[in-house]
Amino acid sequence: MKKRAKVFFADIAIKTIEPEQTLPSRFERMLKKVLPGNISGKKVIIKMHLGGGIGYTTIHPLFVRIMVGELKVAGAASVKVMDVNAESGVARGYVPEVIGCPVVSCLGKNGKRFYREKIGFKTLDEAVLSKEAIDSDFFIDLSHVKGHGDCGFGGAIKNIAMGLVDGETRGKIHRLEGGLVVDNSKCVFCQKCFRNCPRNAIRLNKEKKEIGIFFHHCTYCQHCIMVCPKSAITMTGRKFEDFSQGLALVTAAFLKKFQPENLLFINFLTNITIYCDCWGLSTASLVPDIGILCSKDIAACEQASLDMIKTDNLLPNGLPSDRKILKKNGHLFEKIHSKDPYLVIKYLEKNYPCTSKYKIKKVE
Ligand code: SF4
Ligand code: SF4
Repeated sequence: MKKRAKVFFADIAIKTIEPEQTLPSRFERMLKKVLPGNISGKKVIIKMHLGGGIGYTTIHPLFVRIMVGELKVAGAASVKVMDVNAESGVARGYVPEVIGCPVVSCLGKNGKRFYREKIGFKTLDEAVLSKEAIDSDFFIDLSHVKGHGDCGFGGAIKNIAMGLVDGETRGKIHRLEGGLVVDNSKCVFCQKCFRNCPRNAIRLNKEKKEIGIFFHHCTYCQHCIMVCPKSAITMTGRKFEDFSQGLALVTAAFLKKFQPENLLFINFLTNITIYCDCWGLSTASLVPDIGILCSKDIAACEQASLDMIKTDNLLPNGLPSDRKILKKNGHLFEKIHSKDPYLVIKYLEKNYPCTSKYKIKKVE
């Protein structure tokens, strides 16, 4: 039987109003516990999703500043925050003057600093991965946990698989999605499927008089299949599972480049919104803020994060008014997106030595 991994938890709940009890102070104390003593002299990369557009619910820069400060005190040779595009974080304050370290793009300024890694899963033949991240001595996966239309949720696994690769690799992972096939030769463009899709997942190409499916929004309800007078749409499976598997395989390929003692995973359970930060917008939180989780084990960190997000805590304005809970059973994210969020963790456990079994250790 696998041993349970330790997951540190900084709770956002406080007893009395004192700065020492609040989340930034607890985060600082958490870092003092988890940062290894041998970090001195190491090149550290902190991978984040810096958001986009007018989104404001990514991890607050104050926490990044605290982390960078602690790493410097611990003697790190260099500290850099990394995302796909360094510029995307400027509007949200992820700049050296605020966070205390440079922000870099994962493939370098010219987009040419990468390694190719064989994956070999269906059409996902290879992944183009950040050279600078792989060449670092210590890697911190600093993730904001939120819902995601393609796989149920986004956290530490998605932060690596979608955020440390080139656009082509991201495209290949997205092309693993599917499950509905449209035979446009049978379609008479009556648009009944479009009008009856409850999730706005049907895309119309008015020029070509063709329809397509946007799988991020699709919940496989099959209304489109039922209303189509020409049987032009058929279901071949719920292929979001392939998407989840693609995420897990790319993440495993990246993590295998490191000794486990040189990895750290930190998940922020604050501003937990329905969709990913890549939408470039923010909506109300689905549930109240929970706190911060940290572990040396990625699967334990992800599993604990999901387990702490409960349907019973759904806030009245958490869902847009045109969205509703779809299913009775499963995780809150599955009830909303119709995709099991735990699946990606299970796939990672099959492909990388990690465990979803955990024990919580509270940071006071
Ligand atoms: S299966 Fe349902 S959600 Fe998906 S495209 Fe068809 S009607 Fe829309
Ligand atoms: S309902 Fe069927 S025939 Fe009508 S637009 Fe959709 S796919 Fe085409």
